[in-house]
Amino acid sequence: MKGRVVVGRRGVLALLGVSCGAMACRRETYSVTGRGLPSGWRERRLEASLGARRALVLSSREDQREAVLWSRDLGWDLPLRGGALVHTALLLAVLRGELVTADTVFRCDGSRCERAHGAIRPADALALGCRTFFVPLASRVGTSMLASAFAVLGLASPSVPDDPVVRTRFALEGEGWVLRIQDTLAMGQALSRHPEPAPTMWSEALVPRSAEPGPLRGVVAVRDTEAWFVGYSVGSEPRWVSAFVSDCDGRPGQVVVSLARATHEAWLREGQAQRPVNPLIVPRRRGRR
Ligand SMILES: [Zn+2]
Repeated sequence: MKGRVVVGRRGVLALLGVSCGAMACRRETYSVTGRGLPSGWRERRLEASLGARRALVLSSREDQREAVLWSRDLGWDLPLRGGALVHTALLLAVLRGELVTADTVFRCDGSRCERAHGAIRPADALALGCRTFFVPLASRVGTSMLASAFAVLGLASPSVPDDPVVRTRFALEGEGWVLRIQDTLAMGQALSRHPEPAPTMWSEALVPRSAEPGPLRGVVAVRDTEAWFVGYSVGSEPRWVSAFVSDCDGRPGQVVVSLARATHEAWLREGQAQRPVNPLIVPRRRGRR
């Protein structure tokens, strides 16, 4: 139970022994927001105590015609750093290029990671964010390999550098890659399809390890004080979920999964009673249908 985050219940947090510094226990407000509230939009709020100063979460139903975006001190159309989310494209690229298979075993001695991960396969490397696994692959991946992996993941391909040194930094750190949170919905959709050539690997790789994910499956990418979660829910609607947090007091990977789950469950609780408004398609005409 150690490290489990229970949203908005300070007493339970104390019982679970979670570190509860002054900043981490400050209640945060996440609001449904958009560029000007359209007709019929009703503001919604979520109170949580997670430790993120800035965050965005976007949940969408399968047909992407209904979506809810939660924000804390970030604009929903703001370009964000893709960061370690690039590891997902890198892994897919090297699998498709047959540089590794789903069963290739690497040994992480911890020289580039917070701890030694030991013998790991690609699924664990992605789930754990093992840099020791990704560093040698980043120097071997080709420009077209990487670009086509972005396309398979439903993402617009950024300009992948031709220079090997610059390309390695791009493939490892996502250096120079910016994207909007709404663009990651397609990535969540692609991940839920478990793309070839190793579809069974994804069912293992997409189980977050940093926090209890509940019904969510997806990629957790951490870089410094920022983290992404991009994925989907199993067995319930809404289907696709993308979350970004920055300036975290605690562990960003834990915060982003907990926040994605909290907003997802809040929409499940509240969303049935009212018609959600799609922040991606802001209505231009007023009036009721
Ligand atoms: Zn490692």
